[in-house]
Amino acid sequence: MEIKKIDHFDGEYAFLSNFYICNVTYNGINYKHTEGAFQAQKSLNEQDRRVIASLSPSQAKRAAGRRGFVKLRPDWEDIKDQIMDEVLIAKFTQNPSLKEQLLDTGDVELIEGNTWHDNYWGNCTCSKCSGIIGRNQLGKTLMNIREEIRKNG
Ligand SMILES: [Zn+2]
Repeated sequence: MEIKKIDHFDGEYAFLSNFYICNVTYNGINYKHTEGAFQAQKSLNEQDRRVIASLSPSQAKRAAGRRGFVKLRPDWEDIKDQIMDEVLIAKFTQNPSLKEQLLDTGDVELIEGNTWHDNYWGNCTCSKCSGIIGRNQLGKTLMNIREEIRKNG
């Protein structure tokens, strides 16, 4: 059976999630998941970034959130899409087996389906969000990288 879309980044597609555990080096710091690599860029302070690199994915998200210890860099909203792109390029070029798995998804649409009302990076499937079509910025970024890697290796 042919799949037309992947709309949950769990199970066999957990590797598409930023919570997936894999080594990724970004801006000179080693992270254990792309969630940490991404969240750490909210800070301009290198020590903060190193602390975030030592945390679990959910801890990293919390640390860089509104109630966390990170002072949000002023240009964050302008650069966050580009940071996500760079972090995910690092993930898939530094981990050849993940690159293969990404390419193996072929041309199917990748949608970061979630239940926590994130309609920016993904698409929330809860009843309250049923009238909203999520931007799916994470899924779009993954599809762009997949196409780029397929063309240029
Ligand atoms: Zn929702």
